Amino acid sequence: MTPCGASYMKPRHMSSERSYDVIVIGGGHAGCEAAAASARLGARTLLLTHKLETIGEMSCNPAIGGLGKGHLVREIDALDGVMGRVADAAGIQFRLLNRSKGPAVRGPRAQSDRKLYREAMQAALAGQANLTILAAAVEDLITVVIPGRPEAEPGTQGQTTELETPGSRIPLRSSGMTEVVGVRTASGREFAAPRIVLTTGTFLKGVIHIGDKRIPAGRHGEAPAIGLSDRLYGAGFAMGRLKTGTPARLQSSSIDWASLEKQLGDEEPSPFSFLTDRITNEQVACGVTYTNEDTHRIIEESLSKSAVYSGAISGRGPRYCPSIEDKVVRFADKSAHQIFLEPEGLDDDTVYPNGISTSLPEDVQERFIRTIPGLENVVITRHAYAIEYDYVDPRELMPTLETKRIKGLHLAGQINGTTGYEEAAAQGLVAGLNAARAASGAGPFEVTRAEGYIGVMIDDLVTRGVTEPYRMFTSRAEYRLSLRADNADQRLTPKGIKLGCVGPERTRKFADKMREIEAARELARTLNLTPAQAQARGLLVNQDGQRRDALALLAYPSISFEQLSGIWPELGSLSGQAREQLEIDALYSGYLERQALDVEAFKRDEDLRLSPDLDYAVVGGLSNEVREKLAHAKPVTLGQASRIEGVTPGALTALLAHVKREQRKRA
Ligand code: FAD
Repeated sequence: MTPCGASYMKPRHMSSERSYDVIVIGGGHAGCEAAAASARLGARTLLLTHKLETIGEMSCNPAIGGLGKGHLVREIDALDGVMGRVADAAGIQFRLLNRSKGPAVRGPRAQSDRKLYREAMQAALAGQANLTILAAAVEDLITVVIPGRPEAEPGTQGQTTELETPGSRIPLRSSGMTEVVGVRTASGREFAAPRIVLTTGTFLKGVIHIGDKRIPAGRHGEAPAIGLSDRLYGAGFAMGRLKTGTPARLQSSSIDWASLEKQLGDEEPSPFSFLTDRITNEQVACGVTYTNEDTHRIIEESLSKSAVYSGAISGRGPRYCPSIEDKVVRFADKSAHQIFLEPEGLDDDTVYPNGISTSLPEDVQERFIRTIPGLENVVITRHAYAIEYDYVDPRELMPTLETKRIKGLHLAGQINGTTGYEEAAAQGLVAGLNAARAASGAGPFEVTRAEGYIGVMIDDLVTRGVTEPYRMFTSRAEYRLSLRADNADQRLTPKGIKLGCVGPERTRKFADKMREIEAARELARTLNLTPAQAQARGLLVNQDGQRRDALALLAYPSISFEQLSGIWPELGSLSGQAREQLEIDALYSGYLERQALDVEAFKRDEDLRLSPDLDYAVVGGLSNEVREKLAHAKPVTLGQASRIEGVTPGALTALLAHVKREQRKRA
């Protein structure tokens, strides 16, 4: 792969051993996926991260997936990403959430052995062709001004405007478009590449809070990234502060497990990866316990010592993942909050108490935790903390996750205002694929809202920005009946094969699966009954004279697959995946047809591309407010423009008319 075009200027003193197509900074969940994706596309990729041993580290809870998040993992896997396979190799308790609800909202989740997860991720990256991994702290980006473009747009030099970002108003210095060409490490080494993917998580000016203690850190025991943050502020990026927290860690052998309820995983674990046939790890149970009035009293009495409540932290935290002090205050009428005691590994004496993250001082943590049943004599091996960090307003990004401000720079993961391993990994995948494609001169790769949760998340981020750490929910996806965890491969693997990021094993397995499903559908279409024949076999259907095939019969809630297999034994010999597919096809048949029409309308708007140079000042019929919003957001399609807050149907009609007029003129 050769770096693209004349605008890529390798610093003159750089040897070719220190030149790459793509450099990824950060070995967290976004960075691992970005590096692997870029290398899969054949780009010579360098991953630079603080420590090799923390590659794939789970900073907080040892679990992958869940509602909405499990969909993301399956989609990453469908594009041959690494997270699904790694989570399968490390999973010690699998549960398919919402099993009793429809397939569209079921979410695969697994608790992971933290050490196995790291090891599996490190092994996956070590075996990845085209990928070099080095331990280094990146201190700065090396940038140049794109030849032929001024440092600042004419007329804007020196101007300072205020850009409203969630939580703060940050001065935005107008500056010209620059291009990134490499990175400089803290020890002064330089590496060149035309594409850089920055995935530094919570490390940008990270500060840990425990009571009134403030410790500059990117994560427990690790230094923050200061230089990179300064560089982004200096370049004029709209940025803000967010926060998140993690609970104390407990010594398993000091917990009174015998007194606690147990939560077991599924008897038949559902793997994340479409390539995993069977989960082989030993499966473990979690303990379940509850806070009580004593716990709440201690917390209430100490609220003024909480970093969150004393006003020491300004950044916003995730509403749906509140600290225990938040829960005690916000849900004052509740006398107990549930806590899951999750073992951190098979060979590990550490337990993660899910549900009691806090920024209270250590002595208060010790007191309130010991009021909880089962934890009366618990040994705390690490205290809880909250962390506050810089993030970049994701409206600074294009759907490829390249910044609008610095050409060649892509951002992915928590740096974009999201939270969660899965959200980070999905962005890493998209940024890595796009960085590699751009480095070879190829066009953008995008997943649309109609194709996947990945598309929903990226569109939400780049179009609407964030007001709190963004996490995925199934409710964010308007086409969720067709965007299911079970069909992520059918939606995305063909796209990945075309792109070149899917390996031969998955390509073959996917083709086999689709052949099997098609044969099952064909079989179901050939098996049919008249209403009278159905009735004679005990099946209750409308007596309207219409012959119904097996799928149409299965669409009746009162008719089961077992009943049909009793009539047609060939159905009974179908594989589990073929049977599941027929059941889902039948369950959603009417709805999916209706949704397909909505998707068609969506696609029409998405297909209408808007030029990045479109001058909104000359588009007639727009209010000044809408004009400013569009000029600032630079939507890439009419569809994206329609999702910008305040852009009315009237404004869209005016925009469409303008674009059509321009097209006619050009024609
Ligand atoms: P990270 O996983 O943080 O990885 C960043 C990587 O970049 C690290 O490897 C780091 O060493 C490297 N790096 C940083 N700066 C540099 C540099 N200058 N040079 C080289 N390498 C660098 N998520 C949830 O879903 N629920 C939670 O409850 C939750 N709680 C959390 C609590 C805490 C205390 C923390 C820290 C995170 C929490 N998270 C939680 C978030 C979750 O850990 C992140 O969303 C996820 O890890 C983000 O992935 P990432 O790849 O963006 O960043």
